[in-house]
Amino acid sequence: MDGSTRLASTPWPEVARDELVVAVPVGSFEQHGPHLPLDTDTRIASAVARAITGVVAAPAIAYGASGEHEGFPGTISIGSDVLETVLVEYGRSACRWARRVVFVNGHGGNGPALVKAVELLRYEGRDAAWLPCAVPGADAHAGRTETSLLLHLSPDDVAMDRAEPGNTAPIVELMPQLRSGGMLAATPNGILGDPTGASEEEGERLFADLVRRADKAVENWAPRPDGRLV
Ligand SMILES: [Zn+2]
Repeated sequence: MDGSTRLASTPWPEVARDELVVAVPVGSFEQHGPHLPLDTDTRIASAVARAITGVVAAPAIAYGASGEHEGFPGTISIGSDVLETVLVEYGRSACRWARRVVFVNGHGGNGPALVKAVELLRYEGRDAAWLPCAVPGADAHAGRTETSLLLHLSPDDVAMDRAEPGNTAPIVELMPQLRSGGMLAATPNGILGDPTGASEEEGERLFADLVRRADKAVENWAPRPDGRLV
């Protein structure tokens, strides 16, 4: 599964200056329904970052912008402004010795902070970029997609006996409700989607696809104006 070196366990003289591409998982700490762990997004982003070929995988930035989930106990959000500042300072520091930094994002709510931070880093002449751990056609939150991925990555921490459908309405329809009352107003159990059909096999396939696209994006290294690699 691992395509990369781990930065945390590497002594500094072995960190090859100026040649490195550092992959930084950016996760969240937020409710993921009654059956998935709070650090679900961080686990997915970390696994993808570690599987990208030819990069050095850094430890995750394990908190993100999760304000919409704060109605649920356990959720901790540092907010978009603070996350943006963290990402900017992170990129400035890492780019003192790394050639490139790619933030591997596991949580959609981190998007605006990532775009702004990477835009600034690139304006300053630092070769930063980001990519999402996005599955085409996925349900929105703690549903079949994330549950399948976790069944593949962390099967012991998935409580399938507690998996139940959440609000399955399309996200565009839910947006007004989500904006005014957060997740709690849209879904009492915290799920957008239906995790009941999730499986390890599906997770393995989805994960391989995420890694394949991340690999290609890093290899191509052609950041869009918003800093995203495609
Ligand atoms: Zn998630």
